[in-house]
Amino acid sequence: MSTSDLFETLDPPQRLLMGPGPINAYPRVHQAISASLIGQYDPVMTGYMNQVQSLYRGVFETNNQQTLLVNGTARSGIEAVLVSVLQPGDKVLIPVIGRFGHLLCEIAKRVGAQVKTIDIEWGEVCSPEQVEKAIKAFQPKLFATVQGDTSTTMNQPLAEIGEICQRHGVLFYCDATASIAGNELKIDEWHLDAVSVGLQKCLGGPSGSAPITLSDRCAEVINRRKHIEAGIRAAHHVEGCDAMIQSNYFDLAMIMDYWGPERLNHHTESTSMLYAARECARLFLEEGVDKVIARHQQAGDAMASGLQAMGLTLFGNQQYKMNNVVGVYIPQGIDGDKVRQQLQQRFGIEIGTSFGPLHGKVWRIGTMGYNARQDCVLTTLVALESILLKYKVKVSSGQAVLAAMAHYRD
Ligand SMILES: *Cc1c(COP(=O)(O)O)cnc(C)c1O
Repeated sequence: MSTSDLFETLDPPQRLLMGPGPINAYPRVHQAISASLIGQYDPVMTGYMNQVQSLYRGVFETNNQQTLLVNGTARSGIEAVLVSVLQPGDKVLIPVIGRFGHLLCEIAKRVGAQVKTIDIEWGEVCSPEQVEKAIKAFQPKLFATVQGDTSTTMNQPLAEIGEICQRHGVLFYCDATASIAGNELKIDEWHLDAVSVGLQKCLGGPSGSAPITLSDRCAEVINRRKHIEAGIRAAHHVEGCDAMIQSNYFDLAMIMDYWGPERLNHHTESTSMLYAARECARLFLEEGVDKVIARHQQAGDAMASGLQAMGLTLFGNQQYKMNNVVGVYIPQGIDGDKVRQQLQQRFGIEIGTSFGPLHGKVWRIGTMGYNARQDCVLTTLVALESILLKYKVKVSSGQAVLAAMAHYRD
């Protein structure tokens, strides 16, 4: 290869990422990622692993011993929980309030589970009564749901569902990737058995690590499927009585042993992503859960008010809107993708398109993590207004920024 085949030195443009994720990471997270690599069993590394467990118990507001990272994007956390809990033929109940509900169904089907859905119109959420009725009729092993479904920007209320699951002996799993740190999530208080997330939303990191937490009863169910690889098995290891987990990489029984006191070798923990996850948690806990959520609410409310003041219409049942992302209808006769392209080319700002039934109808604008800030909100509103004016959309000039500023003190 000649040097001209080596492309240019990596130098991505500065973008302001105001879509539904990924977002710009906190500068301290970038610093953490660039820290030196150390060996997998270096006592400093295993020490960091213990710290990460403790930090994420704080982030998740849980006492769950089994709180750790799955290496991979948020989807790897989802897949790890579902493949480790569900055996072929097991029943799982899943409300589908948007794209990510469909993803849970898809993964559960691949695992061989019997999937029953509660189908909800996009823009709405599922009621506890609907959940209880479906649980009684279907008697699933697991109830699996998404909290904040970024595809619709709706936040599924969870507070009453855990108690229903407990009463019927059902395990309760939630994908809270998009909602954690932006919206209230009380894992222990709401009796959640398994929660998985990612870093690239309100936690303010890059994608590539999936923090998860498991209740004792969920860990027990998984450990009944324990099967230790032949190459590392010792005389004192006992095989679980239930069917072996179908994925090696996502076998949470083995992953728990790697994170546990025995430190049984499994994958090589992604050092740089562990540094990132550790810094995301430190930033979150330093600011404090209530303040982090309040900051997301303030930025989200400011963005929503600004869009409405401009004359645009918000998507979905606003009573259940996530704090950190808003759906807004694309004005009649406007090519939504063209506007997004112009925002990127002229202002370096990225906003989101939509999937499925909302494609071409709705943009999604996020205010998450490092970008849940007044300046990011105002810059995005000014830019969007300018591009819409360029395309002769009738907007109330100047009103958006004023309305958004009203959410912040002078
Ligand atoms: C963004 C998002 C994810 C992201 O999954 P990745 O594998 O990290 O791309 C997962 N679940 C929900 C609900 C999300 O909004």
